[in-house]
Amino acid sequence: MAEDKLPSRTQNFSEWYNQLVLRAELADYAPVRGCMVVRPYGWTLWENMSGALDARFKETGHVNAAFPMLIPMSFFEKEKAHVEGFSPELAVVTHGGGEKLEEPLVVRPTSETIIGYMYSKWIRSWRDLPVLINQWGSVLRWELRTKLFLRTAEFYWQEGHTAHASREEALEEMYRILDIYADFAINEAAVPVIKGVKTETEKFAGAVMSTSIEGMMQDKKALQSATSHYFGQNFAKAFEIQYLDPSNTLQYCETTSWGLSTRMIGAIIMVHGDDQGLVLPPRVAPIQVVLIPIHRNDTEKTEVMQAAHRILAELKEAGIRAKMDDREEVTPGFKFNDWEMRGVPLRVELGPKDLEKGSVAVARRDIAGKANRSFIPQAGLAAAVADLLVEVQASMLARAIAFRDANIHDPGSFAELAAVVRDGWAFSWWCGRKECEAKVKDETKATTRNMPLDQPAGSGKCIVCGEPAEKKVYFARAY
Ligand SMILES: [Zn+2]
Repeated sequence: MAEDKLPSRTQNFSEWYNQLVLRAELADYAPVRGCMVVRPYGWTLWENMSGALDARFKETGHVNAAFPMLIPMSFFEKEKAHVEGFSPELAVVTHGGGEKLEEPLVVRPTSETIIGYMYSKWIRSWRDLPVLINQWGSVLRWELRTKLFLRTAEFYWQEGHTAHASREEALEEMYRILDIYADFAINEAAVPVIKGVKTETEKFAGAVMSTSIEGMMQDKKALQSATSHYFGQNFAKAFEIQYLDPSNTLQYCETTSWGLSTRMIGAIIMVHGDDQGLVLPPRVAPIQVVLIPIHRNDTEKTEVMQAAHRILAELKEAGIRAKMDDREEVTPGFKFNDWEMRGVPLRVELGPKDLEKGSVAVARRDIAGKANRSFIPQAGLAAAVADLLVEVQASMLARAIAFRDANIHDPGSFAELAAVVRDGWAFSWWCGRKECEAKVKDETKATTRNMPLDQPAGSGKCIVCGEPAEKKVYFARAY
């Protein structure tokens, strides 16, 4: 598998991505069109990601629960914008146990409706609020054009659904989660993302306000990496989620929902990968260090393997996710390529010469070519490796930030905007009108990504129509 080279990123980014996902054994195509199989290596990566996120949710008072996958069709019809947004993507179960069902059931595309229904039963008084529940699971949205992790019919994610007494608390929740997503993306996945508010055109079906984190991939397209929504009372009114306030008056709740999916794996691949394959940030990598013993005869083998087992035990003892590749049927060179394809952050080589010198050779996956290799003494190796993993993580983030910032432009005219979004992002003043947003989309294929929370001072003129504008927005082609 490691013998054929990947297409280069500059040659064909899309095909580079598709082949990398298969060859790194992250995922595979399922027999049902539009579905994917996440393979153990990809799933371990997802487990590390979801673990880091789950800890953040719990630290902020959220709890997990599980809601059913099948939702009565009538639930979707209760919220008009929601049903309009999701109707084309619904998969519907019409038969069960060989009989036609009285009411068709929808395979959940998202769970606002079923959870809203349950909340209307569970919430009675202001004392029951806030309700802060998250669910880990999968959802199904009928998609015909598949790209593994980025766009599949069924995908894995978490969806948080919260209910609050006031607008302020619900908005605070939406922003708190957006902060968690950004912190996770930046500090765990080393994907620098921009937090911002989606435009009316781009917001979630049924939301009053949607926010997102957006990342720049190496082909300079944007990837919406997670979203956090404020629903106001839209779902509370559709599902009668009400509470008695302290003066015994019946009030509608204010609700939010928020999600991050296996799409984020796509972001990690496209932000960090190189022409040799995957490059994983150490904090989420399934294997952080691969140890490769090198020997030519039995005498060498005995000595090398003895030291290799000791080193492996030391690394594991220090909490480092280490693995030894002692396969004998393949050459060390094959192993190097194999683990490079899978993006393991550090490779430790141990041969007879290293034993003599009391050191090991360490190669960093994030640096290409010979410059990536150094020698580290065996004494104190685990601590040195732990430090190096921290350094790799930091330098991956720094490189991704530099790349992103070098490719965000401030065009002076609509014509310039049209030119820069072919190979980068534009950060421009926008008057807020849908016509201007639509013109950019129709003529350049770039869409508004978000209006960053961090806005420059003052105001300007809309890049499209020249009218006064209060906000700047990112325009980019997107996945
Ligand atoms: Zn305008």
